[in-house]
Amino acid sequence: DSNPYVQEMNQQCRGSPIGSMPTINENNDAILSQKLSVWCQLSNGMWASGKIQSTSGDETYVALANGNVVNVPPGQLLPANPEILDGVDDLMQLSYLNDPSVLHNLKYRFTEDMIYSKAGPVLIAVNPFKDVPLYGNNAMDAYRQKDMDWPHVYALANTVYEQMMRDGKNQSLIISGESGAGKTETAKYAMKYLAALGGGGGGMEVEMLQTNCLLEAFGNAKTLRNKNSSRFGKLIEIHFTSLGKISGAKIQTFFCEQSRVVQVGDGERSYHVFYQLCSGAPSLLKEKLNLKAATEYKYLNQSECFEIDGVDDALKFQKLQEAFDLLRICKEDQAQVFQILAAILWLGNIKFQTIDNENHVEVLADEALANASKLMKCTAQGLMVALSTHKIRAGSDNISKIKTLQQAIDARDALAKFMYGNLFDWLMEQINKLLDGNQNTWGSINILDIYGFESFKKNSFEQFCINYANERLQQHFNRHLLKLEQEEYEEDGIDWTKVDFEDNQECLDLFEKKPLGLLSLLDEESNFPNATDLTLVNKLNKHLNINPFFKGQRGRAFGVRHYAGEVVYDTNGFLEKNRDPLHSDFIQLLSSSNCKLLQSFASQKPDQTLRSLKSSLSQPGGPESSTQSVGTKFKAQLFKLMHQLENTTPHFIRCLKPNKKQLPGMYEEDLVLQQLLCCGIMEVMRIARAGYPSRMTHQEFAARYALLLPEPSEHLDPLSMSVAVLKQLNVLPEMYQVGYTKVYLRTAQIARLEEQRTKA
Ligand code: ATP
Ligand code: MG
Repeated sequence: DSNPYVQEMNQQCRGSPIGSMPTINENNDAILSQKLSVWCQLSNGMWASGKIQSTSGDETYVALANGNVVNVPPGQLLPANPEILDGVDDLMQLSYLNDPSVLHNLKYRFTEDMIYSKAGPVLIAVNPFKDVPLYGNNAMDAYRQKDMDWPHVYALANTVYEQMMRDGKNQSLIISGESGAGKTETAKYAMKYLAALGGGGGGMEVEMLQTNCLLEAFGNAKTLRNKNSSRFGKLIEIHFTSLGKISGAKIQTFFCEQSRVVQVGDGERSYHVFYQLCSGAPSLLKEKLNLKAATEYKYLNQSECFEIDGVDDALKFQKLQEAFDLLRICKEDQAQVFQILAAILWLGNIKFQTIDNENHVEVLADEALANASKLMKCTAQGLMVALSTHKIRAGSDNISKIKTLQQAIDARDALAKFMYGNLFDWLMEQINKLLDGNQNTWGSINILDIYGFESFKKNSFEQFCINYANERLQQHFNRHLLKLEQEEYEEDGIDWTKVDFEDNQECLDLFEKKPLGLLSLLDEESNFPNATDLTLVNKLNKHLNINPFFKGQRGRAFGVRHYAGEVVYDTNGFLEKNRDPLHSDFIQLLSSSNCKLLQSFASQKPDQTLRSLKSSLSQPGGPESSTQSVGTKFKAQLFKLMHQLENTTPHFIRCLKPNKKQLPGMYEEDLVLQQLLCCGIMEVMRIARAGYPSRMTHQEFAARYALLLPEPSEHLDPLSMSVAVLKQLNVLPEMYQVGYTKVYLRTAQIARLEEQRTKA
């Protein structure tokens, strides 16, 4: 077939693997000989646009935009789109959907502050890292009244709301992206829009919006990647009455990072609330809590980072108190919350001294111990005993053993994490009690703001869980998007053979299969007291080596072939993090407390919540009850989440981070590309393009291309006119379909029609 467009189309449809788009090669000399616009990859890996000047043999000379002419090897050329397509709203409209074209289009829009684009059914948001004039009340009204149809989170929220009202079906907005990409901000804009749309019915929209302030104080922290990073995932359900008014809301949180309470990396901070309390508490409260400056606390000063540019923690503390009031958390409860926070800070300052040459310790009876126990409303003696000894069962007796230094430090930190984790859960409970409006709930919109796929130099149990969750979400994404696409074809009556999509079920099986899956094997090994990282790896290797998604590694690591790439996990700490047992000594201590809130933490059922992914208590002999493992709880929670999402119509937002410096106006192509590849957008677009990515209503099509007909055609209806154009231009029958309402075109056909149109 000599038609270059057909060849190009065939290449694109062949389903090339992620990251390797077909390049121009000897097969499409025809494209080259037409002196088309191209992208050529320069020696630094970047793509530059140019026009082909001449070709001979393997040599292609390309004139770049800057006037230089370069000789480009055949493998480094890709077709570029006609200029008319620059900055299109929807990437699917591009005739050539290769990496540089997609990057160019997003960049083009980004520089114009058009941070939202569509990739077919997916909304893409590129973080501007500055205020953009896109969110005012005018914009809200415009999207509501449909005066504006540019891609926007408001536009999507509007669609979601209308679909819920029309179909009577629950909807979900699934927001993903890496840390700092803008998920939480996007979620807030969606909430704000929905609150405006469904507000005014005496519902809880004002309170619902206020929860963000509280959630961020307790669940967000400055990290190297984001000044306001959410260290937990969340699902917000907004409930509506049959009249479309908000009746209430519910917030679920997942996998909160507790290790941050006791351990902060360089340049990072612990949870915002600690700094807000230290700098914002009025003097009376400070006195009551024996509160010092943040710099005085071990848990906060280990990173030497106390402030965030442009953030006034003292002011934030006032806002926090206002939010507490608005959410009707009474003054007495607020006082207890602040007490527990201060107690955690003082706990971190508690020191131990060794009492023998076997490294056994006792607690130093100093100011820190006195303040911590006072704030925890327990005796200093009780706290000392809980921190420095543990009970083990010998026959029918409990005997008390003194801890070593490391065991004591671990116990102290575990207590701090336990208290913080429970405090966070308790707050969620209070908020949910207030927001509960179930009497009148008719439908709901769920907003999911959750970590994206993570692959670092060193990946641990946390990444293992997060990536497993992402694998599940990706399956949901793929299955749903293909289904949607195919349903449209069927509804518009076009001839379409269903495409079965090969999804990532096999990788999920690697995690979930019983008894020989990663999670089961990990649990089995966690039950052996003498198991080590190495015995775990050996076990995995022995049982999973034949699995194509498992990659054995040297040492104590193993690899998994995820949809977004291979990740190597270091098993160091996997067993302890998975076990996460409950510490009986603490339960006893907390039940003896006169603080009602702390007391209630002691009586909680061990499996009530899963927030302890990153917390672990690992002293031998210390833990008592063996509860469900963290991995198993995680899986159960994930299944519950998926079940909930599967009963909704999903809508997807992918947030992209344009640079690592969190700066405005900076667009790093390789970083953006990597994210597009990781979240599977390119793949979804390519799969979708195996169908008919370009579609125009008969009216639109006829209006644009009727001039290509040799004779006047006013007497024809739009459908007949469209068919006449397609016949006139000899568009091959396999390149298009005519539906009841639209013309569907294969990839690259619009470019061809546009070329004819320019000539005409
Ligand atoms: P994490 O996974 O770490 O929680 P995230 O994806 O939730 O990251 P956000 O906290 O939403 O990221 O965004 C990071 C920062 O980027 C925000 O604090 C804000 O400064 C900026 N930002 C994000 N989205 C927008 C936007 N639409 N307009 C202006 N600034 C934004
Ligand atoms: Mg966030």
